[in-house]
Amino acid sequence: MTAQPSATDDESAAEPDSALVTARRQLERAATHVDVDPGVVERLKHPTRVQQVSVPLEREDGSVDVFTGYRAQHDDVRGPYKGGLRYHPEVNAEECTGLSMWMTWKCAVMDLPFGGGKGGIAVDPKSLTEDETERLTRRFAEELRDAVGPTKDVAAPDMGTDAQTMAWFMDAYSMQQGETIPGVVTGKPPVIGGSYGREEAPGRSTAIAAREAVRYYGREISDTTIAVQGFGSVGANAARLLEEWGATIVAVSDVNGGVYDPDGIDVSAIPSHDEEPEAVTRFATELDAGDDVSRLSNSELLELDVDVLVPAAVGNVITADNADAIAADIVVEGANGPTTFAADTILEERGVHVIPDILANAGGVTVSYFEWLQDINRRQWSLERVTEELEDHMLEAWEDVRTEVDDKGLTWRDAAYVVALSRIAEAKETRGLWP
Ligand code: GLU
Repeated sequence: MTAQPSATDDESAAEPDSALVTARRQLERAATHVDVDPGVVERLKHPTRVQQVSVPLEREDGSVDVFTGYRAQHDDVRGPYKGGLRYHPEVNAEECTGLSMWMTWKCAVMDLPFGGGKGGIAVDPKSLTEDETERLTRRFAEELRDAVGPTKDVAAPDMGTDAQTMAWFMDAYSMQQGETIPGVVTGKPPVIGGSYGREEAPGRSTAIAAREAVRYYGREISDTTIAVQGFGSVGANAARLLEEWGATIVAVSDVNGGVYDPDGIDVSAIPSHDEEPEAVTRFATELDAGDDVSRLSNSELLELDVDVLVPAAVGNVITADNADAIAADIVVEGANGPTTFAADTILEERGVHVIPDILANAGGVTVSYFEWLQDINRRQWSLERVTEELEDHMLEAWEDVRTEVDDKGLTWRDAAYVVALSRIAEAKETRGLWP
């Protein structure tokens, strides 16, 4: 079945906007800064297709539940659809479509030969046993078998999924195809064709983006205070690297709230959410009364007076309701879509610089590309090589975007969109519209 998202273009839609509404508004806005055929922009507002599948699961007690899965394929003019699979109760066709559009721009900003895709299952992964997650994933892989493949659509981890989920997906797909096909997914464990450094890559690129932004605005990373919302793979890895590079991480949080220390938190001492769920909460409760560390809520963390704020948890956390209270000078989007369209406008008016998700957290899909190359060539790269190539790719993309910021006086988001849209439009115009 093909589900068509019913996004509205209604400017007055109440916040928070869906990812699709935000993605379409960002595209329209960016299109005003590029000399691009309006027909191309119109085509890019719509996904190629959005698959909806039913995924039946036999539970541990023998009963059967049926979950709904999706795969949105936005655009493949530059290469196979690429993007994560998310297990979360709020996954739906519209959200997957918006997120798949962001993947199209993300791959184009990084100049990767991929288009954009995103999918997932509307399920709370915490409500499943490990065996149930495995069965659900294998059946989902089977339902999507015709849609995916190393030259068609390549999946990856996202919220609620990880390297093991990708291993089950790859195994189910390979068993049914009758041969081992590691390139159908990325983010796998290295022992079955995964890439070293893939897990930490979105956090690493977020840290690189923060470091470059700090330099661009004429400051030293060693004089920089940073607050990080979310201590999953992205937040924890970004915080640890930035600390290693000399920044002072004054606040971190998980879903239950955060901790604040104006003198800096030793973030390497706190396990990430994946290593120990809610370790930040444990760290907070174990504080001695005498410590100069205080607890704070996630919303208080966002409003801290720091140099750099890194929202690295979920989407839609900076909205029209709190954009006026954001006191950071620079926001580096570790999460996908943490800033709503309305909030973006307020931040721009207030002179807060936002380094967008499609650039900042693009390390994930960039190392996914390295993994895909390694799978095709059946040759694994060392961690050193991955780290070096990621650094080079990030700096090249940073330069491309910075040039648009400087030449056209654009925001970082508009500049990233201009870089992406120019590449996609050129590919579309060169290939032409068939028939
Ligand atoms: N889910 C990640 C993202 O949103 C990575 C996607 C990929 O590696 O394909 O960028």
